[in-house]
Amino acid sequence: MAKAVKIKFIELGAGGILYLAALYTAGDGEWTSGAETVCFLLAYFALAAGVFAQLIRNFRKMHFFDENFLMLLATVGALIIGKYTEAVGAILFFQIGKLIEEISMSRTKKSIAKYMDIRPEFANRKVGNKEENVAPSDLKRGDVIVIRPGEKIPVDAVVTAGSSMVDMKALTGESEPGEVKIGQKVYSGSINLSGLLEARVSKVYAESTASRIMGLVEGANKKKSETEKFADRFTKYYTPIVTCLGILVMILPPMMLPAHDTETWMYRGLIFLVAACPFGLLVSVPLAFLGGIGAASKQGVLMKGSNFLEALSKAETFIFDKTGTLTQGVFHVKKICPKGMTAEELLELTAHGEAYSSHPIAVSLQEAYGKDVDLGRVKYIKEFSGFGVMAEIDGKDVYIGNSKFMNRQGLYYQPVSEIGTAVHVAVDGEYAGYILISDALRKDAKRTIRWLERHQLEAVMLTGDNERVAQSVAKQLGIEYVYANLMPEDKVAQLEEFIDSQMESENLAFVGDGINDAPVLARADIGIAMGGLGADAALEAADVILMEDEPSRIIDAIRISRGTIRAVKQNLIFAIGMKILLLILAFFGYVSMQDAIIADMGVMLINILNSFWVITLC
Ligand code: ADP
Ligand code: MG
Repeated sequence: MAKAVKIKFIELGAGGILYLAALYTAGDGEWTSGAETVCFLLAYFALAAGVFAQLIRNFRKMHFFDENFLMLLATVGALIIGKYTEAVGAILFFQIGKLIEEISMSRTKKSIAKYMDIRPEFANRKVGNKEENVAPSDLKRGDVIVIRPGEKIPVDAVVTAGSSMVDMKALTGESEPGEVKIGQKVYSGSINLSGLLEARVSKVYAESTASRIMGLVEGANKKKSETEKFADRFTKYYTPIVTCLGILVMILPPMMLPAHDTETWMYRGLIFLVAACPFGLLVSVPLAFLGGIGAASKQGVLMKGSNFLEALSKAETFIFDKTGTLTQGVFHVKKICPKGMTAEELLELTAHGEAYSSHPIAVSLQEAYGKDVDLGRVKYIKEFSGFGVMAEIDGKDVYIGNSKFMNRQGLYYQPVSEIGTAVHVAVDGEYAGYILISDALRKDAKRTIRWLERHQLEAVMLTGDNERVAQSVAKQLGIEYVYANLMPEDKVAQLEEFIDSQMESENLAFVGDGINDAPVLARADIGIAMGGLGADAALEAADVILMEDEPSRIIDAIRISRGTIRAVKQNLIFAIGMKILLLILAFFGYVSMQDAIIADMGVMLINILNSFWVITLC
């Protein structure tokens, strides 16, 4: 149990017992003897101590009016006019309400953290033939670790022996376990299910997937949505206003209606203050947002803050990067057309040139080559984002890239008419041929685009690839708006054009894979990155991260964000409506101080239930 919750429990327990004792001795709760008064006062101070402490903390921050202030003002007033039972009862229920808030908040956070139950506790480091049990943070890069079935993978590592099924549900929301073999990566926070694995540490604990994700989620609590900011601003004005109103209730009616006595209106004014307490109202908003973030993380969608969740619910346009986002980013070689060398030599040259690039094209070409690259032959490598790479291989200057790259370097190349991405190669200024590669669509890309269309959301595709490939992909997916041949900076420019042309209230989301599109991810209203596993740049630049390489997770993300906003709106309307009703009732003397605070607690509970209900159903 959280410490704050424990303290609240003790406060409440002590105060509650004293309160009951006082009630017992007092009978009717009216002023009779000194002993009861002492008992009531003790109960009051036991219960109100925390509220006082909070008030003093607020005063230090020059922040005067809030629900604590209202409660203390009202209850101290009630004590002064001798309404002991009422004063203590109100503060008791106020504290119970706070406790419920505390518990549900920490439970929601915990449920996120539980989904985030990815913190590995230990690691088995292999030294010689022995194993030692160490903390994951003690591991260094290059250490060899042993992971037994059932154990959590402590840090990101590459398998060096064994094979196994690995459960990544906690990281990606994907319930099917996946198989890992020698040479493949395993991610910290996932669970080794079946076989014994030996792996070499590729990232220290702090840089590993588990700690990075936990860092992200912890940070998400701090980024507030517009609605939450509005609620904060609202109380800033609301509280002083209702305080004044409460005071007016105390003084105006007795002055204007001579038949009415001062004490009744004094008491009503105090009840009015309690009824005005914005407590239940304020709790339900952040709680619903937290619930939404939690629900999304269960689906493998990480939101970096409530503000992004809110923005996503209002997104009208979804701009997709092509390679690696709508397509798998796994290219197959369709054709090799060498000039002045054999096909094998051309592929070998290309694989060497692409040795240091992480672009999907580079990875696929190395895969197609199939052999180990001899890094000793490669001296100088420079990557030109959106163009290709240049390298010095065996002392020769090699350019590898698209036709734009060849044009830019003033190199001759042979135009290609077939559909596909042509990777041209030039050696020492001489054209050496091209490799034609093509990429397959992601399985669920079409479904995602269809869903967006059905919901009147615009889908746009941007790509650095050529027009033909772009059109063919767009046609298969049913995307109407396509922009091809874009350099990474053109993508940013295009995005800005979209942003300028849309209305203030609309939002634009960019969906990319984080490879050379970080600037666009950062510039969009909402940057959504796919494949949170592995792509470090994406984790940094994006606002929303889809842990699994599945565009359809966007559908879940949109649904959840809309559901959350719906819950927030319902909660607000209900809470404000009840508040107004309560204030009217208080003014006419139909509620007691306790009733007012219990009603507020009821509103809060209903709102909490509503949030979970709406969010889980969406
Ligand atoms: P996309 O918008 O489809 O993600 P990129 O901006 O990543 O495309 O790349 C655009 C084009 O630049 C690619 O289609 C390819 O022709 C070329 N290119 C980029 N990087 C490389 C590379 N490492 N090797 C060869 N060609 C590359
Ligand atoms: Mg890309």
